Amino acid sequence: METWKRYNEKELSHSMAHYLQAVAGLKREKGYARVGDIADRLGVSKSGVTSMLRSLASRGLVDHERYGCVELTEPGAEVAERTSSNREVLTVFLREILGVPDTIADEDACMIEHLVSPQSMSRLLRLTRVLNSDEPAAVELRNSYREKRRVCQDHDVESCRVCTDRCLGETLLQLPTKAPKE
Ligand SMILES: [Zn+2]
Ligand SMILES: [Zn+2]
Repeated sequence: METWKRYNEKELSHSMAHYLQAVAGLKREKGYARVGDIADRLGVSKSGVTSMLRSLASRGLVDHERYGCVELTEPGAEVAERTSSNREVLTVFLREILGVPDTIADEDACMIEHLVSPQSMSRLLRLTRVLNSDEPAAVELRNSYREKRRVCQDHDVESCRVCTDRCLGETLLQLPTKAPKE
């Protein structure tokens, strides 16, 4: 099936990732996670937490309310850890390598965290490590990147190795820039 059609059937929603991360964070900090704590941490209602926990439990990601506490299953803990690691890698890549302003980088990293595959992510981590290093080649590349214009060299689409029939940079420049939320 085409990716965009399959997309909605993806098991993990963005909210689910954040609920799992909240449970993992509470377990780490307090040793337990109760419905009320999760609600406080995420700024949502207790009934919202309860219904989400039901759906996470049906997917085998949490064990719901044993003595009022929520436990992550092994797959649930894995998802929580992986999605927060994704967010950290993406944040560093967007901020440090691409030079995206902090608020936009944080927001984008948060939105992508639950979607990206471990395969792509581990390569992005490797690339980020290389590009962020003090190796002369990395320093040179960073400088060259900062100097480059956003459109194809001399607006020449033919010789650009990224663009196809149109300059992608020009189409992107036409889009309204996303205003950082302050
Ligand atoms: Zn997020
Ligand atoms: Zn181009």
